[in-house]
Amino acid sequence: MSFENFGLKKALLKGITDMGFEAPTPIQRKVIPEIITGETDMIGLAQTGTGKTAAFGLPLLQQIDFHSAVTRGLVLCPTRELCLQISRDFKAYASHIAGAKIVSVYGGASFRDQLREVKQGAPVIVATPGRLIDLIQRRVVDLSQVSFVVLDEADEMLSMGFQEEIDDILKHTPPHRKTWLFSATMPHSLSGIAAKYMRNPVEITAGAKNAMAGNIDHVHYVVREKERYLALKRIIDFHPGIFGLIFCRTKNETAEVAEKLISDGYQAEAIHGDLSQPRRDYVMRQFRERRIELLVATDVAARGIDVDNISHIIHFRLPDDGENYTHRSGRTARAGKSGTAITLINIKEKGKLALIERKTSIRSRYEKLPQGRDILEKHVCAAVDRLTQPTEHPVEMEPFLPFLSEKFASLTREDLIRRIIASECDRFFKYYENAPDIHVEKESAPFNKKQADQQGSQRFFINVGELDNIQKKSISKLICHYSGMPSHQLGKIEIYRAFSFFEVPRGSAENLLTSFKHAKLGNRKVQVELAEKRGGKNKKPKKKASAKG
Ligand code: AMP
Repeated sequence: MSFENFGLKKALLKGITDMGFEAPTPIQRKVIPEIITGETDMIGLAQTGTGKTAAFGLPLLQQIDFHSAVTRGLVLCPTRELCLQISRDFKAYASHIAGAKIVSVYGGASFRDQLREVKQGAPVIVATPGRLIDLIQRRVVDLSQVSFVVLDEADEMLSMGFQEEIDDILKHTPPHRKTWLFSATMPHSLSGIAAKYMRNPVEITAGAKNAMAGNIDHVHYVVREKERYLALKRIIDFHPGIFGLIFCRTKNETAEVAEKLISDGYQAEAIHGDLSQPRRDYVMRQFRERRIELLVATDVAARGIDVDNISHIIHFRLPDDGENYTHRSGRTARAGKSGTAITLINIKEKGKLALIERKTSIRSRYEKLPQGRDILEKHVCAAVDRLTQPTEHPVEMEPFLPFLSEKFASLTREDLIRRIIASECDRFFKYYENAPDIHVEKESAPFNKKQADQQGSQRFFINVGELDNIQKKSISKLICHYSGMPSHQLGKIEIYRAFSFFEVPRGSAENLLTSFKHAKLGNRKVQVELAEKRGGKNKKPKKKASAKG
């Protein structure tokens, strides 16, 4: 099927050809024939990235008489970013329609400019609810002759608290207008709006209801709380060329994570509610133009972020519910592309993730955090890929070649390769050379003696004991603090005069030893070692018998 089949005006067909659209996306194939004649109300369940802007934009622009200054088409959306994006898209579709005027109305920008623009005639208005209400109350915008209202990302508008504004705006439009509602999910409150304002709407679903694009790979990593940021770095480093959106829960955390990333050498920026509008615009522009590779955002600030080709969504912290998870994750895998949604959880958050999985019907795959070696391998391969591309400036470099050959004559081919790769991946070699393994086992069931005997538990020596005035509870605390292991996983603890023993499930041994590398009790260096078995009984390792730091 092609766009010609829809009976669109020639000028619109030209506009979308200019945009490089060859064939309609699935949602466009379903929606456009239903609403092109402008006679039906419609509910479209679709994510951003499916091509829904054109699905409602083309039929709307088809119906508008741009010779008249009267407002006939209205699009409501939750954020300024989305508002600008929709206006930009509409202007592009209508670029061959003479006099096609599309006016954007949104908060945080000059009221006077928008007022002037609307006064000059606004056949189509794309607006956020708050600012539009202001303009209606000042009698600048008149919606009494509106024929089409689009509610885009309706669920987000509701969750941002715009219910009253939407009610108010719809009351200013005539009852015979057609309403087209688009939403990624269909919460109960939206069904209420639909029942109140729509008549026999056609319901169209692109993909499953309340589900997100199927081309998103969902992965989660289990981390120790105090290593959450380190784990984030590992994940980023494991994906050379990442173009990602990182979600935090609070403004402070967002700013903090972005600052750390910047000081660690990443091209990152934060976006949250405390930023001034010009700063917000600047950051978004930088991200859109890929001059920053990582955007760290709060949920609210990220609403309406509509940037193509985001490769990874990272839930640095889980959102509260499935709907937010869906919204966040849906910022990747747009327009038929694929993407990855990565979640970091600590062991206590496993239940919360399971709940979100149940609500959204997604399955998130557990993966072990990559080790330093895995990351280095990725970067070495990426460097090889870069270096085996055709050379840039081949002509300009030519005169230097004899001189360079002579300079490098003393180096063997292997030496040269070593040096080039070392210089390409210097930062990563330095950081990951001795980096400990920080992955946390997924399974964290309570310590079960019988199971431990079957699977095998391991006994460790620790150089603190009665002489340190220590009790079982404090040893357990110490182990949990450094290893991140929940206390219920610890097995038997035996305290002796200068040392003690404790048991943990076999799978945790590797982590445990690494995490105690720099451990201290007061000023004293704490040492942990695998206990040796002699004659079936565990003994303290010989050389550590009187280890004090
Ligand atoms: P949307 O869901 O409307 O935000 O669209 C997501 C992206 O897909 C935007 O970059 C659109 O320009 C692009 N797009 C929409 N429709 C098509 C199409 N039929 N062919 C190719 N790209 C499209």
